[in-house]
Amino acid sequence: MTVPMVLPGTSALALHIETPLCPSLPLSTLLGVPVYLKLEALQPSGSFKNRGIGALARELVDGGARCLVSSSGGNAGLAVAYAGRRLGVQVHVVLPTTTPAMMHDRLRAEGAVVSRHGADWNAADVLARSLAQAAGAAYLPPFDHPTLWRGHATMMHEAVRQGPKPGMVVLSVGGGGLLCGVIEGLRAIGWGDVPVLAVETEGAASLHAALTAGTLVSLPRIDTVAVTLGARQVAAQALALSQAHAVHSHVVTDAAAIQACARFLDDHRLLVEPACGAALAPLYARAPVLRDVASVLVIVCGGSGVTGALLQEWLRAHA
Ligand SMILES: *Cc1c(COP(=O)(O)O)cnc(C)c1O
Repeated sequence: MTVPMVLPGTSALALHIETPLCPSLPLSTLLGVPVYLKLEALQPSGSFKNRGIGALARELVDGGARCLVSSSGGNAGLAVAYAGRRLGVQVHVVLPTTTPAMMHDRLRAEGAVVSRHGADWNAADVLARSLAQAAGAAYLPPFDHPTLWRGHATMMHEAVRQGPKPGMVVLSVGGGGLLCGVIEGLRAIGWGDVPVLAVETEGAASLHAALTAGTLVSLPRIDTVAVTLGARQVAAQALALSQAHAVHSHVVTDAAAIQACARFLDDHRLLVEPACGAALAPLYARAPVLRDVASVLVIVCGGSGVTGALLQEWLRAHA
């Protein structure tokens, strides 16, 4: 077994960093109003997941857990591995066989034990849950848990200190954990009247389907390059908050998400996943929903499932 590398004196340290709120000159010029970027791509594991997963991992370890189990081959798994290493507990991640080797290597580098099982996430998840139960270990869900939302909400507690109240917050939606956390945070800081633009790609629009139907919907399949947004059904809390808060659902194509990644790379020298490009796409497209909005705060959620070569490949495939 890999021995997690524990940094000295870690227990008192936060499991995420405070991220900059950065004005974007290119996007502000394009839209004609101030655009601010909350740079979650700078978190230690590459996405905002460090916030909620860090909070949940700490809660579980404080409650006696000595081993954390995750089934995400993506950013949630990386965040669990990071939290486990910092807290000095073992992490086991079960990946479907389809997860690229790159993620396998990144998880190993964080000290996680990695095993492969099943052709898709659901199969890996079934094994992860039963492994956790058999070993007396703690299972961490990727988006549907109140502690995750409380952890994600910290980004808004920072934003209120860092900049002005925005006219709209723009973010992407997978299972809706980020959405729940941001709305919880907006309410907590007295910005409960700020509308949220909730963006999904066409092949993963589970929130859009639920809002249209007025009830939770399980999509028959996921078909998008933004794999991180591929939850077939959103958390019940994400639908409930979307109905209670001023949430505008917005759907973009894979091509628009990928092209937004490329433009954002040129504009800000930051490489993000298509899951994050989805949130940037309506800004680059100057979507009508942003007209008459006085200023915009974009959650640049990041993501580690991208390389320069992959982005080039996606751009060619969606030209
Ligand atoms: C997890 C993730 C999302 C979606 O978050 P949910 O809480 O599942 O809605 C979006 N972008 C990135 C980069 C992510 O890691």
